[in-house]
Amino acid sequence: MVTSYLPTLMFHGLVDKTSSLHQAVDEEFYTIDAAVFRQILSLIAELDKKTATTGIISNTGSFDSNRVILSFDDGWMTDYTIATPLLGEFNMSAAFFIVTDFIGKDSYLTAMQIKAMHQAAMDIQIHGKTHEFLTLLNNDEIIAQLQYAKNFTEDLLGKNIDSLSFPGGRGDDRVIDIATSLGFTKFFSSRPGWYQARTRDIPRVVIHQQTLLPDVCKYLTYQKPVLYKSIAKYHAGRLLVKLVGQHFYNRLKVG
Ligand SMILES: [Zn+2]
Repeated sequence: MVTSYLPTLMFHGLVDKTSSLHQAVDEEFYTIDAAVFRQILSLIAELDKKTATTGIISNTGSFDSNRVILSFDDGWMTDYTIATPLLGEFNMSAAFFIVTDFIGKDSYLTAMQIKAMHQAAMDIQIHGKTHEFLTLLNNDEIIAQLQYAKNFTEDLLGKNIDSLSFPGGRGDDRVIDIATSLGFTKFFSSRPGWYQARTRDIPRVVIHQQTLLPDVCKYLTYQKPVLYKSIAKYHAGRLLVKLVGQHFYNRLKVG
């Protein structure tokens, strides 16, 4: 069956509570248990769905209805220590959006780990140089961020980088126009929804500690009510930005 909708799930760090190596990840609300991640992979397999990489995005806008993209933001070390082996176990893949200045820092991926993930058929893409929110930068600053991260990652892996996940989920037409001029063609946001060819960004549904498995199932099977909930929450967040100002809001929530 063919559909014009493509679901994309968005993850951050994972934690394996059964491991003595308990890797610390800062963003607790967005850090989910490895056992929950395993349940989501099992659900995808039970629904007879197959994971796709960013290469599936095209302007024709028709997809096999069994396709789903899994994506990880920020480049946490657990992408390598937990997510990649679990994905391998299920014969699945995911897109990992890394922040190049975070590489090698505490709890983040090292360059060697990123290379190993790339060799294990994981789709490495970028999430900025410093994770500064691109909508707050001037044009030259956006170019500097994206050009550096793209060149660095292309040099590291010897592949073309054409996908960007907006730091904090925040992008707009100006950011997309600049990124397009640098060779990016796919823009992943935090706007809840399914990708359709007519949208410039690729919406995603974020998985966090309060996400319920039945809601993930509804999203993957194109049932709307779960999205209405997410969309209401997203717009409440937008309203909060207007009320308290972007800089203060950024301190409350890092996406
Ligand atoms: Zn981020």
